[in-house]
Amino acid sequence: MLIKIFISLLLVSVCLCSVSFKNSWPEEYQVYFAVYKPDWKSEKKLILRKFLLEGKGYFLIVDPNTLNTGIILAPEGSTQKLSWESVNREFKDSPYIRLINRSIKNSSNLQDAGITHVMPDQKGIDLTIDLCPSHLPLDKRIFTSIISEFEKFDHPVPLAISVSGLWMEKHHEDLEWLKRLVREKKMTVEWINHSFHHRVSLREPLKENFLLEKSTNISEEILDTEREMIEEGLVPSCMFRFPGLVSDKSLYEKVTTFGLLPIGTDAWLAKGQKAYDGSIVLIHGNGNEPVGVKDFLNLIKNEGPKVKEGDWLLFDLRQSLTNEIR
Ligand SMILES: [Zn+2]
Repeated sequence: MLIKIFISLLLVSVCLCSVSFKNSWPEEYQVYFAVYKPDWKSEKKLILRKFLLEGKGYFLIVDPNTLNTGIILAPEGSTQKLSWESVNREFKDSPYIRLINRSIKNSSNLQDAGITHVMPDQKGIDLTIDLCPSHLPLDKRIFTSIISEFEKFDHPVPLAISVSGLWMEKHHEDLEWLKRLVREKKMTVEWINHSFHHRVSLREPLKENFLLEKSTNISEEILDTEREMIEEGLVPSCMFRFPGLVSDKSLYEKVTTFGLLPIGTDAWLAKGQKAYDGSIVLIHGNGNEPVGVKDFLNLIKNEGPKVKEGDWLLFDLRQSLTNEIR
């Protein structure tokens, strides 16, 4: 079988060359923590995963100062595997570990645990768009409206998309459409892990629902989603969005041991919550929540004059989070 691999070199802000792939399923994909420091000038990065593509070894890495992630060819020589506890010690002063540890303080809520708001120094919000499994097509209005409204002062417009494995499997054309907007530099996307199956029951109470279902295999839910992302040529972020925003303290802490920072919301628009400056806004782009999309389109229409003057922006979630904790 002819497997097409497109390799592109992206210069990310950490000055690391990140390699992205397409149409190749990562093998032996596993959690693997180690320090990565390619030369004496570079700051230390953290390796999160290791895997094979076409027989070659690769790492998924994160810059603990910026939360930027990248995929690199595994360098020659060995790296020393670290436990999550050792990672905590090694990077304890970094924004990445401080954000995870701060978020754990708000991990007891059954719904919407973790970080839900940031403190911006400008007016605007951080927009997160969830793509839970759906039979409906992508709600493209969200993206076309944002790109045209924010074209002048927020270009490319920074978005965070929480994507589930099943949505990626069933929506190839929609995903290609999103990737094209990224290639055309109309938007940047932080691809947040939203679990693979995103199971939900209409009968069970929240404490036994979503990922709290007894049969959940959390490792598969997290790692298979990342593998699907990599096969699609996406670079997984170091963030996680709980399906239904539902978790308990034990599950929350377990997810952080995969090196992931759970992201909540204080403005789920379809639930009637209002967006304020610094809100982490949640809407659904999977066609299942037209009310939230309508509310969002109204929000940017109401802020229209400020948007046009560059006085009301969509922020990059990584920058918002790291700016606040420095
Ligand atoms: Zn969802």
